[in-house]
Amino acid sequence: MSDASPPVLRFAPSPTGLLHVGNARTALLNALIARRRGGTFILRLDDTDAARSRAEFADAIAADLAWLGIPPDLRVRQSDRLALYADAAGRLTAAGRLYACYESEEELDLKRKLQRARGLPPVYDRAALRLTEAERARYAAEGRAPHWRFLLSQREVAWNDGVRGPQQVDTASLSDPVLVRADGSFLYTLPSVVDDMALGVTQVVRGEDHVTNTAVQIEIIEALGGTPPLFAHHNLLTLPSGEGLSKRLGHLSLSALRAEGIEALAVAAAAVLVGTARPVQPVASLDDLAALVDLSDISRAPARFDPQDLASLSARTLHLMPFAVARRRLLAQGIDAGEAFWLAVRGNLLRFEDAAHWWRVCCAPLAATAAAAPEDVAFLAAAAAALPAEPWDGSTYGSWIAAIKATSGRSGKALFHPLRRALTGEDRGPELAGLLPLMGRARVDARLRGMQEPL
Ligand code: GLU
Repeated sequence: MSDASPPVLRFAPSPTGLLHVGNARTALLNALIARRRGGTFILRLDDTDAARSRAEFADAIAADLAWLGIPPDLRVRQSDRLALYADAAGRLTAAGRLYACYESEEELDLKRKLQRARGLPPVYDRAALRLTEAERARYAAEGRAPHWRFLLSQREVAWNDGVRGPQQVDTASLSDPVLVRADGSFLYTLPSVVDDMALGVTQVVRGEDHVTNTAVQIEIIEALGGTPPLFAHHNLLTLPSGEGLSKRLGHLSLSALRAEGIEALAVAAAAVLVGTARPVQPVASLDDLAALVDLSDISRAPARFDPQDLASLSARTLHLMPFAVARRRLLAQGIDAGEAFWLAVRGNLLRFEDAAHWWRVCCAPLAATAAAAPEDVAFLAAAAAALPAEPWDGSTYGSWIAAIKATSGRSGKALFHPLRRALTGEDRGPELAGLLPLMGRARVDARLRGMQEPL
């Protein structure tokens, strides 16, 4: 593959649970590399395990990727592609690289125990290759269906891992892997390899739990006449306790984080940057995050992920959010706000939905305002009297405050707190300087005097 040709990457989850932050790390690394280099990002649903795969998880995965901002360019599912795998299995059998085995699980277990007892590695002894025709016929007569193993070439297989650097595995140290079960169903390995070849995948970025599969996969690809893609195996995310994340146990699922109001871009930044040489930091866009992706920056140690950090990262992500992005989301809630509103409030948001609250504070009568404290009534009336004429802009607040300060003699909290309470109904919030022009003189005047506001 020449470096200039657009790459093809894929994310290949099994639809057996909800995606968690660790899965998002894999998905994002693939999608962002594709995005940065003008390539293709494929969602491949590894659903050959019919008993555990569910359509609702497949739909949830697609929804999660869309939420993260990385919808795939192409979506395939392995259950639609079984003929391709059968064809590949046929070719491997014809080439003498796939062979029938008849051992039961119990027999294999016993073999491994004996090997261990003799201090030998528990590698499959290839006894099936030595079966006579008579023995095969007997198994067939007994109705024993074979499972099928790939004949490894027992050599050093090397690849240059995008994260881990040069890797070498002697496949003589591995058991010939079972590719097809006795019931004819495929284990993960062959479909994965066949799809990577058929879909022209140029680069496989996945968790380091797959490092041990890589030498086997390279051998199978070569046996099928293909060229291996580039492989990169990233460290896995763990909980702060060191416990691994589990799809089955529903750890840190993306849908739960979404329901909590955590920003997708914050989840993305955390998922991609934790456990790398770069600090976890908020970003303004996925393109900015893509620019920070560097596989060689990824640490070899597990990456500890603390969910406690997400709320603050999410807030800091909102503080950077460009108006164009916020505008789309505000419009979806029926809020047609201008950039001045967004710039006035974004630095104060913990969650995006807080923006709707501040919109109402600026542009609609306050639902419930506590009456001003008796000692503030006259002060607020004087402040109302000092309001400058419109038009108002960013400097209005400063000159108004200077005037109130001079006439009232108040300063600090005694000055600012009653104003904020009267104008917003709250003790804290965005800078009043930004809110004032949005509220307009009539509304501000009414609130200061405790009178009926314009609608
Ligand atoms: N379905 C596999 C998994 O979720 C895919 C592994 C791969 O990327 O090759 O672990």
